[in-house]
Amino acid sequence: MFSRPTCTACRSLAPETNSYYTLIGPTHGWRMTRTTQRDGSLLVEWRCAPCWRKYKTAAAAAGVYPSSGQHLTSRAARATSMPPEEGPTDPSKPTR
Ligand SMILES: [Zn+2]
Repeated sequence: MFSRPTCTACRSLAPETNSYYTLIGPTHGWRMTRTTQRDGSLLVEWRCAPCWRKYKTAAAAAGVYPSSGQHLTSRAARATSMPPEEGPTDPSKPTR
C-alpha cells in the first residue's frame, strides 16, 4: 500500500497523496532516488522539492552525482556522462 515517505534531507513528511505518482508530479515535486549499495542492498531515498533542488545543485557543483558517500574515483568521472537519475523511474515499487 501507499505510505507517505519522509524527506531524506529535512525529515519532513510527504504531503498526503493518493500515489507516488502524485507525489513526484509537478504539484509536489518530490523525487525518489534508488542507490545500490556496496553490499547489494537497495537504498531508497525521497526528497522534497527544495531538498531535491539543493541535492542537484550540490551534485552539479561536485561535478558528479553523489552516491552513498563513496569516494569519487574514475567511476565518478564516468558517471558524469550519464544522465542523472531523476523522475518517475518506477515509483510503484520503492523496494526491489
Ligand atoms: Zn526536504
